[in-house]
Amino acid sequence: MATPQENLLDWLRDAHAMEQQAEKMLKAQSARLEHYPKLKARIDQHVEETLGQQQLIDGCLERLGGSASTIKDMTGKLMAFGQAVGGSLMSDEVVKGAMAGYVFENVEIATYTVLIAAAKAAGDKQTQAACEKILPQEKAMAKWILDHLPEITEAFLARSEDPELEAKK
Ligand code: MG
Ligand code: FE
Repeated sequence: MATPQENLLDWLRDAHAMEQQAEKMLKAQSARLEHYPKLKARIDQHVEETLGQQQLIDGCLERLGGSASTIKDMTGKLMAFGQAVGGSLMSDEVVKGAMAGYVFENVEIATYTVLIAAAKAAGDKQTQAACEKILPQEKAMAKWILDHLPEITEAFLARSEDPELEAKK
């Protein structure tokens, strides 16, 4: 058995690992993108948000006395998918990368939704407030990607059929 506080601490560690992975994946995607400036700019904006999220989560972990060093196996495996897509050799990497980004943001949305409920149950108002600050950023990023997937796809297809142009990034 475990108390709500213990489960909350575990899940905060998961969130810490997830945000480390988010930073790696977003930076790798941004560094490779050349022909999709709007997508690159939105990713760069989310890198900045992600760094702020890391600080909020680290602050919660420090306050609760938990180290951030334990990276849970499940989170690591899930996030490896995103990372694989991030530095990709695929000919359609911009499209696959945007799809993976959408999946990743939704994992983050689920994670912070769980954390908010757990923080409420544990009576931890500060963790609740931190996660309530982060959640809208993840929702906004997920929505932006979904809203722009048609445009990204159309741009990719147009570049793809032109022998003079590189399409994949
Ligand atoms: Mg995040
Ligand atoms: Fe995110």
